[in-house]
Amino acid sequence: MTDKIYDIAIIGGGPAGIFAAYYARLRKLDVALIETLPNLGGQPNTLYSQKKIYDIAAIPSITGSELTEQLIEQINFIGCDKFLGTSVSNINQVDDDKWELTTDNDNNKTIIAKSIIIALGNGAFEPRKLTFDYDHELETNNIRYFVNDIEDFRNQDIAIAGGGDSAVDWAVDLNKVSNRTFLIHRRNKYRAMENSVDHLNSSSVEQLNPYIIKDVKPNVDKMDIIMKKLKSDDIDTITVDKLLVNYGFVSDSKILKEWNIDLEGPFIKVNEHMETNLPNVFAIGDIVTYSSKLQLIATAFAEGPIAVTKAIRNIYPERDFFEHSTSLFEN
Ligand SMILES: Cc1cc2nc3c(=O)[nH]c(=O)nc-3n(C[C@H](O)[C@H](O)[C@H](O)COP(=O)(O)OP(=O)(O)OC[C@H]3O[C@@H](n4cnc5c(N)ncnc54)[C@H](O)[C@@H]3O)c2cc1C
Repeated sequence: MTDKIYDIAIIGGGPAGIFAAYYARLRKLDVALIETLPNLGGQPNTLYSQKKIYDIAAIPSITGSELTEQLIEQINFIGCDKFLGTSVSNINQVDDDKWELTTDNDNNKTIIAKSIIIALGNGAFEPRKLTFDYDHELETNNIRYFVNDIEDFRNQDIAIAGGGDSAVDWAVDLNKVSNRTFLIHRRNKYRAMENSVDHLNSSSVEQLNPYIIKDVKPNVDKMDIIMKKLKSDDIDTITVDKLLVNYGFVSDSKILKEWNIDLEGPFIKVNEHMETNLPNVFAIGDIVTYSSKLQLIATAFAEGPIAVTKAIRNIYPERDFFEHSTSLFEN
């Protein structure tokens, strides 16, 4: 358990959660921001990092990753406690005025807060894994589903599996530090921006397509990747130090069924203050439903301040006033 009692614990570090955390810090609250993945950003960063977004007010166009960078710059400017690579598995009221959040990190470490904002989008993102049985010991040193540190790949023979933006971009970037880089894709054409594919084609990355991976096996401290060439009987094997699997992400919000929270289908029902049926538990972003709800970043950005303002009124009734950010920064 962390000793601190936060004013607000925010579950989910997508656009809704990051901006709500920033706004809550601006209103001088103690905030914990908890995100399953090792990086903040949610869908724009994970699902469409290179695609442009055209409907954020005052920003004519911005890619998913640029939007994430700016949100992170904004929250880092004011700071908040971030728990990355941490999934909230349950929430329980421990007192009239406190909630305990159970996480899957450090032996189910708990976080205590006076209020909660649930901003978990479509649910926790998990990387799509290799679909066949393999020796999971390989995940210790050889198989990766995320790049946490580029140095992990330096001077190594590496393979990247996948054909989307992320796989192509990582192949080009990791090739700058690796000894040798293979990109394994089951089609001849990539699902990536033309510009990224141009970079790939002018790099020394060895493109293996159309191949599917049939098996992976330990080979001393390296690993063998056994591949089948599609529309042929060819079976080929390469030996590498690391395999980065980049097959995209799946998400799941079934977890909410255990939280005693009122749902409509997979969505959380909220009132005009973004309050759920549970005291001091709010919800914002793609996970909520109300009349006229739009699953947009612009809407998620507006819902954060509404929830934070009501949370302040509930937990600090004496602070029942509203301030503009211009005056907040001057104080
Ligand atoms: C291809 C595509 C294009 C889009 N284009 C646009 C567009 O042009 N304009 C626009 O406005 N919107 C667009 N959207 C929609 C937009 O991305 C979403 O409305 C927005 O991401 C919602 O933000 P969120 O923070 O609510 O959820 P998310 O972005 O889904 O973030 C939720 C975060 O919560 C984390 N999480 C989940 N469960 C837990 C847990 N138990 N513990 C800890 N963390 C958890 C997840 O890992 C995730 O990072 C697009 C969506 C897609 C898929």
